[in-house]
Amino acid sequence: MIAPKTSVKSSSWRSLVVPSLLILALFLAIGIYVITTILNFYYHERAEEASVLAKSYTSVLSTVIDAEQQIDDQLHSTLRVAGVTVSKYVQPFSQELLATMASNLDVDVIYLYDENLTVTQSSNGEYLGWEVPEGHPIDAFYQSGAAYLVEKIREDTVSGIPHKYGYHRFEDGRMVQVGIFASNITKLYSQFEPQYIVDKLSHDSEHTLLALLDVEGSVIAASDQSLVGSAIQPETIGLPISETQYKQITWDTKEYLAFHLPIVIKEEDAGSLVLFYDLSSVNILMLRISIIVSISLLLFFLLFLFSFHNIHRKNQKILNIAYHDELTGLHNIRYYHEYIASLKSKRVACIVLNPINFRMLNMLYGYDHGDMVLIGIGEMLTKLSVQYKPCQPFRLSDDRFLMVISDYQDDEVLNSFCSSMLGIKEKAGLFGSIEICLGLVKSEGPYDSTRMLREALIALNATSVTNRIQFFNEHLEEILLERDAIESELKLAISSAPNGLSLVFQPIIESGSGKIRSFEALARLTSQKLGMISPLTFIQIAEQRQLIIPLGKKILSLACDFIATLQSSGYDSISVAVNISAIQLMHESFVPDLVSLLREKGVQNQNLELELTESVFTQDMELLSNQLSTIRTMGIRISIDDFGTGYSSLSRLGTLPIDTLKLDKQFVDKLQNNEAQARGLASDIISMAHHIGKVVVAEGVEEQEQRSILTNMECDLLQGYLFSKPIPAQYALKLLESKGELDA
Ligand code: C2E
Ligand code: MG
Ligand code: MG
Repeated sequence: MIAPKTSVKSSSWRSLVVPSLLILALFLAIGIYVITTILNFYYHERAEEASVLAKSYTSVLSTVIDAEQQIDDQLHSTLRVAGVTVSKYVQPFSQELLATMASNLDVDVIYLYDENLTVTQSSNGEYLGWEVPEGHPIDAFYQSGAAYLVEKIREDTVSGIPHKYGYHRFEDGRMVQVGIFASNITKLYSQFEPQYIVDKLSHDSEHTLLALLDVEGSVIAASDQSLVGSAIQPETIGLPISETQYKQITWDTKEYLAFHLPIVIKEEDAGSLVLFYDLSSVNILMLRISIIVSISLLLFFLLFLFSFHNIHRKNQKILNIAYHDELTGLHNIRYYHEYIASLKSKRVACIVLNPINFRMLNMLYGYDHGDMVLIGIGEMLTKLSVQYKPCQPFRLSDDRFLMVISDYQDDEVLNSFCSSMLGIKEKAGLFGSIEICLGLVKSEGPYDSTRMLREALIALNATSVTNRIQFFNEHLEEILLERDAIESELKLAISSAPNGLSLVFQPIIESGSGKIRSFEALARLTSQKLGMISPLTFIQIAEQRQLIIPLGKKILSLACDFIATLQSSGYDSISVAVNISAIQLMHESFVPDLVSLLREKGVQNQNLELELTESVFTQDMELLSNQLSTIRTMGIRISIDDFGTGYSSLSRLGTLPIDTLKLDKQFVDKLQNNEAQARGLASDIISMAHHIGKVVVAEGVEEQEQRSILTNMECDLLQGYLFSKPIPAQYALKLLESKGELDA
């Protein structure tokens, strides 16, 4: 099958790819947003943590520095108080007294010096008589004239043991030296050593690098001790000096968050702390988070894509069902509209294909066989569509197919295409009376799919066995409208009484005596809107629109009324012939309905005749034969109407239970003007019909000459305007009353 370029199919890949790309973009955006949000959050958390750490370290360092000073102040004050206390003491000193005082004043040693700076007393009994050498710190103090002094820790001149000493001058020129062993103090001090603190802090938090700077910016202590003594200028590494601000820097190929916070003790600048917060682990963690989030989103996206693909496939299936005919696999009418809308061709022709009488195939061979034939037609049309490109077949409904051919060269190509379409008949499994008919419409745009289909169907409606290809024209539409109106009138006539349906009766006379033998009942339909409608028209419409069964019943009923009137008026031997359509005759309820009607109306069966046209021979002969036999057994006579115009042959008629042949008017018309051939034919038919035991009626006798010829040919009965036109029942009765025999 040709793949048509329509919006349905071409949009199929787009409807999958476009949303997928959009969703991918959405997932990417969400992914980037989620990752950056998580990373920012985590980064700020770390920065906050680092900031808190930096602040707490700064606080610890300021406390430590402050504490060291306080201890120093405390020792200073202890040595000073001890010196003053000893200098104010008035009693003579002894070693015991000085030892007691040292113990009470919380110092380790007390030495008393005379005005020559020689040790006169000591708390430990040592150094007695030791003289202070020139240039010694004690000498320096004494010479300075100061009242007291507390020294920094130094080694004792004689013992070499480190001490912290304080001196106090007496008013009489003597002086006292008080001292504390520095080993105790050093131990205490070491607890407050900046390097010690920095090491401890660095040890506690491995991911930080610390540097304690003095006010000038030189490193006093650092986790990397090689930095001690060097100068870090915050500006050179771009550090802002703030408690809340920080910077991300790279140092020694590693990334850090750098903080620089001032250390202030008693509102005085006491240096600053530089803290580098190592981001390596943070970066690794962030990388892991990014990977996990990305993988999760990717899995989610793939899951989504999978579900989306499944839904899309199901939708495609549904779409496929929606646009295809289940039985033949061809595209359906819904798709036809889309197809036409997508056409860019200069000219397009729509051809509706319909096998006439397809219903018979279903009735005779069953629906399964009918389906096989429809599939066959679909296949044949598909094959044709491959030969004639661009061309697209559709199944409209039931037994109707549609072919759209675009950009064909000319009408010749179109006609040849139509012939090819008619040619698929046998190959598709259609045989016998089933003929293919084609309704065709051409358009050069703009293409209106609904209008084109409507017009093609109107054209199809005008086809028949003898006119199998019909092009659309506006006149057909008018006819159709008229037929529609007639259909409405027929429905009205069938359903209600009084109505426009009536019967007229035309006498059929014996050729020799001129006596009325029977009447033919002929239906009349009169509409207020349309006037008189020809039976040829309304009977055909009734047959096509499935109204012939109820209409035929009504006609039979009216005819029986006339028979009843004839009987009651004493014309027992006069019969009435009623025209019956083939569809009506073959209907299963025909015989039972007829039986009950005759019983209901109380008429004799032998007073009824049925006229059948030759079209009955297109029906199944076995079924027809059975039906006719049943009717014949009931005593009802059977005529073949319009004999010689259709399919029947005398040999075939011989085998069927038929009483009368009605020689068609066309034979009668040709009898005049010495048409020898026509006369011979009419004469042959009459004598051969007699030979097989049939009665012959000549129809349409208008001229006296015709009557004579036919009488000479021994035609049994005559019917025509020569004797009477079809007349209403009361006139028919009067005709019988007045003459009984008709002399023209
Ligand atoms: P038909 O059955 O062959 O009826 C004879 C037709 O020939 C009638 O036309 C009749 O009026 C006409 N006719 C009779 N003698 C002459 C004549 O000398 N000259 C001319 N020119 N015509 C003559 P009508 O009534 O118009 O009927 C036409 C056809 O309609 C009938 O042909 C019949 O096939 C069909 N028809 C009429 N009534 C019924 C009906 O009740 N049921 C069915 N199924 N068909 C009917
Ligand atoms: Mg007739
Ligand atoms: Mg006739």
